[in-house]
Amino acid sequence: MSEDYDVVVIGGGAAGLNGGLMLARARRSVVVIDAGDPRNAPAGHVHGLLGREGIAPGELLERGRAEVSGFGGRVLRGTVGAVAREDGGFAVELVDGSRIRARRVLVTTGLVDELPDVPGLRDRWGRDVLHCPYCHGWEVRDQAIGVLASGPLSVHQALLFRQWSDDVTFFSHTLRPTGEQVEELAARDIRVVDGEVASLEVVEDRLTGVRLSDGTLVAREALAVSPRMVARAGFLAGLGLRPVDHPSGAGEHIPADAAGRAEAPGVWVAGNVTDLMAQVGAAAAAGAAAAAQINADLVAEETREAVAAARNRFSADTEARNCARVAADRRHGL
Ligand SMILES: Cc1cc2nc3c(=O)[nH]c(=O)nc-3n(C[C@H](O)[C@H](O)[C@H](O)COP(=O)(O)OP(=O)(O)OC[C@H]3O[C@@H](n4cnc5c(N)ncnc54)[C@H](O)[C@@H]3O)c2cc1C
Repeated sequence: MSEDYDVVVIGGGAAGLNGGLMLARARRSVVVIDAGDPRNAPAGHVHGLLGREGIAPGELLERGRAEVSGFGGRVLRGTVGAVAREDGGFAVELVDGSRIRARRVLVTTGLVDELPDVPGLRDRWGRDVLHCPYCHGWEVRDQAIGVLASGPLSVHQALLFRQWSDDVTFFSHTLRPTGEQVEELAARDIRVVDGEVASLEVVEDRLTGVRLSDGTLVAREALAVSPRMVARAGFLAGLGLRPVDHPSGAGEHIPADAAGRAEAPGVWVAGNVTDLMAQVGAAAAAGAAAAAQINADLVAEETREAVAAARNRFSADTEARNCARVAADRRHGL
């Protein structure tokens, strides 16, 4: 059994719900399919979001779902397993076996944070193990902050966190900063601790320190890490779309043009699946912008079809008038 829509939005986080909202308000039939696992689910609050500063991530999305539904959009809990072209549109298959057909696809499935493999680190993710100073810097201001070298942007991250605290320690772990980076860190009073990090120390549900493999304990209240960020987009392989290396070296994304148009015709992408750095506000804005582009694309298609139909009608009318004139001429012996 399959259902038909103008647009299927795959992923119901900030990007997908704002896209769904725009499309529903544009009087498009739209379904947002969401697996219910937004990237910031481990965090208690959304920060840096105008008008909703500090809202719980779940509450923000609950409001978004209600807004989409309020304008006639459908929000469906489910996981998309594959997308294929069918009859000039798309067939979207869910892992439960159901199918949805749509004329256009907006992909907003976000990314997976591949965390450094340090015992105890995953349990603290989104609490006192952090990645984004603009999301959590204020909350850990003036604290003893560690930065675990875990990606190509780790030194940059340490320099950023220094904006929020005078007490920043850089754990070089398995990476070695270059001479220039060592100079930069030293110039900003960021201590560099060499040696592999073995585990995190947690007391009464709070991070208290970073344990090195030689047993040394460095007291820290928060630890910044650089996860490798990989777009969640395996289900697009049937359309020839695969995540590729992001130019920053921070992970893999689905490339798109400035309007969110992916390399496969009829497919748009928005949010973290294409823009690894997007925070909630930017993801939502990209979803809304892509939705407007999709609506414009559908309007253009409908206009082409209407013009072709009008021309056909005009030709048929002209032919009928010509036939009638010939018949009348014959009747009058002309
Ligand atoms: C710990 C943490 C804290 C953060 N804190 C902040 C903050 O304070 N402020 C801020 O602005 N940003 C914050 N961020 C960033 C924020 O999470 C992202 O900007 C935002 O989630 C991006 O929205 P999105 O819609 O692109 O993706 P997501 O929010 O990840 O939504 C994608 C949705 O798609 C669904 N999905 C995935 N695959 C499928 C599939 N195959 N079928 C159906 N559905 C699927 C997922 O389940 C998910 O619900 C934080 C990130 C992390 C990791």
